[in-house]
Amino acid sequence: MSVRDNPPPSRSRQIANILLLVSGVFLLINLIFPQLFGPKIPQVPYSMFIDLVQDGEVARAYVEQDQIRFQLQPEEEDKPGKVLSTTPLALDLELPNRLESNGVEFAAAPPPRSNWFTSLLGWVIPPLIFVAVWRFFLMRGGGGPQGALSISKSKAKVYVQDDETKVTFDDVAGVDEAKVELEEIVEFLKNSDRYTRIGARIPKGVLLVGPPGTGKTLLAKAVAGEAGVPFFSISGSEFVELFVGAGAARVRDLFEQAKTKSPCIIFIDELDAIGKSRSGNGGFVGGNDEREQTLNQLLTEMDGFAAGENTVIVLAATNRPETLDPALLRPGRFDRQVLVDRPDLSGRLKILEIYAQKVKLADAIDLKEIAVRTSGFAGADLANLVNEAALLAARNNREKVTQADFFEAIERVVAGLEKKSRVLNDKEKKIVAYHEVGHALVGALVPGGNKVSKISIIPRGMAALGYTLQTPTEDRYLLDEAELHGQIATLLGGRSAEEIIFGNVTTGATNDLQRATDLAERMVTSYGMSKVLGPLAYQKGQQNSFLGDGMGGNPRRMVSDETAKAIDAEVKEIVESGHQRALDILNHNRDLLEDITQKILDLETIEGETLQSLLNQVQNPDKVPTST
Ligand code: ADP
Ligand code: MG
Ligand code: ZN
Repeated sequence: MSVRDNPPPSRSRQIANILLLVSGVFLLINLIFPQLFGPKIPQVPYSMFIDLVQDGEVARAYVEQDQIRFQLQPEEEDKPGKVLSTTPLALDLELPNRLESNGVEFAAAPPPRSNWFTSLLGWVIPPLIFVAVWRFFLMRGGGGPQGALSISKSKAKVYVQDDETKVTFDDVAGVDEAKVELEEIVEFLKNSDRYTRIGARIPKGVLLVGPPGTGKTLLAKAVAGEAGVPFFSISGSEFVELFVGAGAARVRDLFEQAKTKSPCIIFIDELDAIGKSRSGNGGFVGGNDEREQTLNQLLTEMDGFAAGENTVIVLAATNRPETLDPALLRPGRFDRQVLVDRPDLSGRLKILEIYAQKVKLADAIDLKEIAVRTSGFAGADLANLVNEAALLAARNNREKVTQADFFEAIERVVAGLEKKSRVLNDKEKKIVAYHEVGHALVGALVPGGNKVSKISIIPRGMAALGYTLQTPTEDRYLLDEAELHGQIATLLGGRSAEEIIFGNVTTGATNDLQRATDLAERMVTSYGMSKVLGPLAYQKGQQNSFLGDGMGGNPRRMVSDETAKAIDAEVKEIVESGHQRALDILNHNRDLLEDITQKILDLETIEGETLQSLLNQVQNPDKVPTST
């Protein structure tokens, strides 16, 4: 796609405008004024002037810097002689002598003083500059024919489809449900009359919701590419202006433009920038007139156009649907919501295939394996991963990207860049090693723990000093209660190991505790998994924030003091029992804990077969070991 601004606000044109204005005024002053005020004196060549002087014809001369006016001898007694002028040679030093020897009466002009011309310039130029600057700022809003009104010009970009750069549905993978929905929209745009003839109302607004980087913007472009219609793209934040009312004017202008180009698509990215709930959500009580007016204008425009005559479909994208004003989601506005979620295993594989085409791959690449290891990655992360792998291959002077490059790239993306420079001292290293092995041993035994594929004590990124990499064997959407308990125990495994070995705990477990507590709280308040509190939801509202993994605090329902106390007690109980379980497992497998930790301290990382055979030796403390 090629982008062109609409209308093109060319800065050079504005400057040209200003220059034209200024030089026009100069021309006027230079051309008209001398004609009006200057006396008309016939010009003669300088050589003729010299001849006349030498012939004694010149009576008197008035020498100025750039002209000499002179009067000839009177032809008749009572009439004055003719007055002529000439342009002097710049450096004729002979001139005074020559004039004197020929008896010419002569005088020089006084040094130039500020005359009417310069004082006029003094009066004219400053206002001119002022006017020019004023015009410049007005035109900055977008140029165009109505310069003074241009502050209301929308800044929308129109994407003109050309075949080479066109985005199609083939460029988007892993979001099949969303694609099906949007294919229908393409159908509406292509054959709108088939639907309107039968009396069906074509949807006006489609809202794409999903976490960042899952391809919402890409999908919107693909819709335009598939339908072959103009695509007006603007970001919600571009409506928000310093001046109250400017955003609303922009919305009006955008729809005006779009209607002339129908059928077409208006795409408003990051809709939440203008579409935030007006109910004082987040402390914005009053004082946000501008955003509110913009939103109101958007609502009005969406109600305003009848689907029949102008097929304008408004696509919008947001990753915070829960903050949107309910009025936006009403039928007739953004009544269709399309969920664009993170891709699952097969989706990730397809996305990897798209981007792997763009780099040179070694023969033995197993993209499936990479897809398995990248659970939770969004499309943008995967695109970045392929690029990161290619960069690694190039840095190591390889011609092709190998599987190992991909694995290292995954680790980079997951845990931040390897930071070999941060060296742990021996004591810290030991603590981190026991901590990570603690996670791994508990995780290997309890249900719901993912397969532990790597333990490392090489510090990475800002937060992690060491890490235990767990890869899920499959994508899971439902977890049962036992699995959640298992996850909590695994999270506490690190701290428990520290307790057992050192009888002491460090600050390293902060994040583990946070996550374990959150999980326990959600089990009680959202999932209804507490025997004491029963299957009630103690949290308010649906929690569909796509930012973060849904762990953000949700306001609790109004609960009585007793219930609140019971919730707290229950959460504590769940975390405590997870802790106890972790302690039991580690105490029971203490030799193995020491053993693996020693290996980690030697090797810094253990993975693959070696790790599996070690972890297979973990024994369940609840069961009497049998001889198998
Ligand atoms: P969003 O708007 O949802 O935050 P984008 O559409 O801007 O995400 O995605 C950023 C980039 O990531 C895209 O340009 C594309 O290269 C890649 N990408 C994201 N999702 C996908 C996908 N489902 N299929 C292919 N590429 C994707
Ligand atoms: Mg986007
Ligand atoms: Zn930990």
